[in-house]
Amino acid sequence: MNGSGTSQFRWLPFSGRRHAIDDAIEPNTSGRTLCGKPVPKVPAQWDKQAGCWETCWDCDYIWRCRENIPLNPAVSRSKLTKVAPELTP
Ligand SMILES: [Zn+2]
Repeated sequence: MNGSGTSQFRWLPFSGRRHAIDDAIEPNTSGRTLCGKPVPKVPAQWDKQAGCWETCWDCDYIWRCRENIPLNPAVSRSKLTKVAPELTP
């Protein structure tokens, strides 16, 4: 527990969803999302639309577990471990 207040992870829109990656991964290098998807080249930036993609709840869950953030009560367990269908706002 570092308690520094800075996050170990950051969001990365990739392959249609907002995944989380380790914040130590530099842009333009390869990495892996928290849910295990390989990212051949981590983009340094992305357009606004990509920032609005649906959250990858597997990454959200892993992130919360790693940083001891309480689970999001709005996310039912049924959404985890499988790709959530498109949600209507
Ligand atoms: Zn993910």
